[in-house]
Amino acid sequence: MALTPPCPICGREASSAIAGLCFGDKPHLPSAVTLHGCAECDFAFTWPRDPFGYRDYYAAVANDTAQRHGQYRNHPQADILANLIGSRPIRSVLDFGCGGGGLLHVLAERFPHVRFLGFDVNANFPSDLPNLRFTDQFPQDGHDLVILSHVIEHMADISQIKALFDLVGEDGLVHIEMPDPKHYISVPQPHFGYYVDRLHINHFSQRALLKIAPQGFDVLIGGTYRMPYALGDFYPAQYVVLQNRRHEQAVPEAIDAYLQAEAQRWADIRAQLHGRRFFIYGFGDNFHRSLSPGGPLHGLEGNIIAVIDRNAATLATSSRSALQFMDPSEIARIDGALIVCTVSQFSDLAEGFRQAYPNSEVQYL
Ligand SMILES: [Zn+2]
Repeated sequence: MALTPPCPICGREASSAIAGLCFGDKPHLPSAVTLHGCAECDFAFTWPRDPFGYRDYYAAVANDTAQRHGQYRNHPQADILANLIGSRPIRSVLDFGCGGGGLLHVLAERFPHVRFLGFDVNANFPSDLPNLRFTDQFPQDGHDLVILSHVIEHMADISQIKALFDLVGEDGLVHIEMPDPKHYISVPQPHFGYYVDRLHINHFSQRALLKIAPQGFDVLIGGTYRMPYALGDFYPAQYVVLQNRRHEQAVPEAIDAYLQAEAQRWADIRAQLHGRRFFIYGFGDNFHRSLSPGGPLHGLEGNIIAVIDRNAATLATSSRSALQFMDPSEIARIDGALIVCTVSQFSDLAEGFRQAYPNSEVQYL
């Protein structure tokens, strides 16, 4: 019985073969592959997949020179990227796996003040635009936008895909476009089984893609569309744009920092109330939360003369608290006292307070 390969993303045992595919002899490439799936990752992949064989194959063959300037026709893709570049502070764009550079040429003409760099194993050709350059040397990091257009479905080593996220600077974007396996069936091509070959070795869902994106990269936009295509008019494509937010605090630390800042902000008010006796207006969540550690009323329960609340009669009998309660209709008799109001200061209350007891000092929490 044939061995079932592990899923390249999660390492779990994948499905038995969905298909067996035969190909002619070509240097560095397998002449037969099987296609396997991982339900956990919503992902399919070919096997075997020798990363060194594929590396040597792409080093010897430019995969996408058809997309040179003048022949590029994926205008939906260019529009998505132009919207990103035009609406955000993007100064440098890297197209990793740029092929013939047609996409970058279109974008560089539209955005003369943005620097564009195209990298591919064979991209040692000149550019006729001052803001566009091509290289076959692995690029440096720190780009505002990294484009991975029809690249990652070709990469055998998932850890190398993960490493490409390091090319994006802080707050920068990575735009990933790839075939959309869920729409192969609705966009058939003239040739048998065209979408399953030995070069598209990864068939990603968006879920699978998010599993390989490093922690701290958040989805900005994404979608599917029919890409204009030379062979059968269209090709089913999908894209995701992720933002590098991994320099930001994790959620627990961000909340901790927020609460520390809050404690700082309310410490002064607590100090002012310390040693004074006052009435509380409102017995809702704002009041109770104010008693929490760091809150403006923390440790000051003993300073409360009474709580003014519409439900005073019920609260007096039902509340577990030892506090005294009084109805708002009785407020006039405490005119002149300090009232700490835990009901929103943006409500109509403020004007009502001013009229009902002009001599009272009102402190809003
Ligand atoms: Zn998996």
